[in-house]
Amino acid sequence: MLDTLRRIIQEVNRAPDLARALSIIVTRVKQAMVVDVCSVYLTDTERQQHVLMATDGYNPDAVGKVRFNFGEGLVGVVARREEMLNLDDASSHKAYVYTGEIGEDPFHGFLGVPIVQHRKVLGVLVVRQRERRRFAEPEETFLFTLAAQLAGAISHAGASGDITHLLQQTDESRYALKGNSGTPGAAVGHARVVYPMANLEAIPDRPAEDTETEIAEFRAAVGAVERDMRMMSARMVDSLPAEDIALFDALIMMLRSENLVEGTIERIRAGNWAPGALRETIVEHVDAFEAMEDPYLRERASDVRDLGRRILEHLQSTSPVQRSFEPDTILVGEEISASQLAEVPVQYLIGVVSARGSSASHVAILARALGIPAVMGVEDLPVNRLEGQNIVVDGYQARLFVRPSRAIREEFQRLQEEEAALSQDLLDLIELPSETPDGVHIPLYANTGLLSDISPSLRCGAEGVGLYRTEVPFMIRDRFPGEEEQFRIYRQVLEAFAPSPVTVRTLDIGGDKALPYFPVEEENPFLGWRGIRIALDHPEIFLTQVRAILRANAGLDNLQLMLPMISSVNEIDEAAGLVRRAHEELVEEGEQTTYPKIGVMIEVPSAVYQVPAMSKRVDFFSIGSNDLTQYLLAVDRNNAQVSDLYNALHPAVLRAIHQVVVEAHAHQRPVSVCGEMAGDPAAALLLLGMGVDSLSMSSASLLRVKWVLRSFNTEKMQSLLEETWLLEDATAVRALLHNSLDEAGLGGLIRAGR
Ligand code: PEP
Ligand code: MG
Repeated sequence: MLDTLRRIIQEVNRAPDLARALSIIVTRVKQAMVVDVCSVYLTDTERQQHVLMATDGYNPDAVGKVRFNFGEGLVGVVARREEMLNLDDASSHKAYVYTGEIGEDPFHGFLGVPIVQHRKVLGVLVVRQRERRRFAEPEETFLFTLAAQLAGAISHAGASGDITHLLQQTDESRYALKGNSGTPGAAVGHARVVYPMANLEAIPDRPAEDTETEIAEFRAAVGAVERDMRMMSARMVDSLPAEDIALFDALIMMLRSENLVEGTIERIRAGNWAPGALRETIVEHVDAFEAMEDPYLRERASDVRDLGRRILEHLQSTSPVQRSFEPDTILVGEEISASQLAEVPVQYLIGVVSARGSSASHVAILARALGIPAVMGVEDLPVNRLEGQNIVVDGYQARLFVRPSRAIREEFQRLQEEEAALSQDLLDLIELPSETPDGVHIPLYANTGLLSDISPSLRCGAEGVGLYRTEVPFMIRDRFPGEEEQFRIYRQVLEAFAPSPVTVRTLDIGGDKALPYFPVEEENPFLGWRGIRIALDHPEIFLTQVRAILRANAGLDNLQLMLPMISSVNEIDEAAGLVRRAHEELVEEGEQTTYPKIGVMIEVPSAVYQVPAMSKRVDFFSIGSNDLTQYLLAVDRNNAQVSDLYNALHPAVLRAIHQVVVEAHAHQRPVSVCGEMAGDPAAALLLLGMGVDSLSMSSASLLRVKWVLRSFNTEKMQSLLEETWLLEDATAVRALLHNSLDEAGLGGLIRAGR
């Protein structure tokens, strides 16, 4: 049964469109289960109906016509209860509705299962039998398992626009692709798919510009792989037994096989570019091998995949990755990296959509820093089919529309304009002080990482930099930058803001911030070798960086140095020891450096409870709410699966932050917040109520937070905080804060509830 199931799913996934996918489902299921009818109903939310969309066994003319209202008929019952219904005689059930149109008279046995994706019923899968019989348990589980897997395929199809054609007049928003989180804003543009080199699965379809050139390049790549294989085989001939060497011959035969070569060329002739055509051929071969009964042959699927990747590598080295971008680009990918984002000219990039990650991922933080809407964690993103497609990004509700209707496009264009108007209004605040109506001044700083962030931060009136993420320049290079190179980068930032303060954080790599040239492979990267831990284990890297930072500060004296991921005081002592050493060395070398203020990030729960001890060692604290939230709630900030649980407004997180503020102040140490919550207008209300001394955020959020700051006096923010302590979960906290913003006339800041 398992094999049959797998084969059906593979066939469905390969179907070119939803209509064909549904027709494959009904035919194959009817055959496999030896039943008399199989039908699929899809849910049309706009009309609140379940529509018969494919059938094998009922009257085919009824397709698209027979509709059950929500809750009506057995189909309605299955959908409403989200439960399987197994009946030996359908017509004797009290909810049974006779339509006459579908030709249901001869059938008695009924088995219906809901097709559910992300808690929403997309449709119902039904099989019928002439006989009066209840279906056996293996039949139930088969249909159930199939429905669970089909849900993904159907929602894919819906996302790529097919469903709109199928269910005319369908409610588009119902089939929008959902991400787990977004960065606010709307974008209407076209998709540009980015993919890692040699990742065959992620290669998009793209029209071939010149068929003959594509074919020639493909043939050359195959030839090159064959040469590589022969060389490998020759190298191994002394160290491997003859039968293992024969494997290379088998691979070469596979490589030369007509199916692989001619199959790909045929696809290029049909219009796809060589990498896309190769992907299609390889996927087909892999599926065919995986469906084989013989376990040995099944294993060959991985050889085919490997060959595919090798050919792709050669193809990519002959046809350099296209790097030209057009206006209104929406970057789309399985997992977009910081460097891929940084590659697009800022004036062309209007949106980001990533299948993995969440709003706390660094790529989302960068997007926010650039004021670009992003949708993260779109699990069902059909990346391969999106190149060049029109796309609407709804960052407020973390949604994505592919090939949107005119109505949707216009609605989002209007939102874009409103957003631009709000930003325009906010510009009036640039020159005004960040002061509450009762006269309390709270500096608002910018978070930066890219040099290109500097001017937006200055333009929005940031009073300095509260977090300069030094890992960003490290991430977009292909090797560790040397002391001179680092010096030049840091100098630019410090100079741009002088005499305002710039808090430079030492290298915080590990976790989700990998350097391509310094791989860290771990089971639990967020609990592993990260931030200060790497720095202390590699004093040569740390010392080089600190020297560069201290030198960059010469004559400016606006530097504050900050250490990431501190979990105990020993780390501070050791790191401070190294900073002292770097400083002494520089003084000996005749450099004009001063010893900077040193602070630590509070982002690991243990640090929350060590503030008094840490106060003896450092000059300031900055709360990294992104990591603090993930560690306190045990929720990976990048895991789409659990992103609903990630919430910085969780009462436990708020209590922890409050405790840090109270204890730091008791020891006369200032506290800033530099995690993403500082830039969330609602959260900022609470942080200000707690008495934080400054907030640091992406420049795109700064004027919004300034508006909040200038609209609420301290007493009001403190009383809101008091009210919050009575609330038991993050949803209630958010509701309270949104309500307050709305009442104060700042509703424009919280579009999510649109
Ligand atoms: C944080 O953890 O809140 C933070 C500011 O650091 P990063 O997001 O760079 O890990
Ligand atoms: Mg952090």
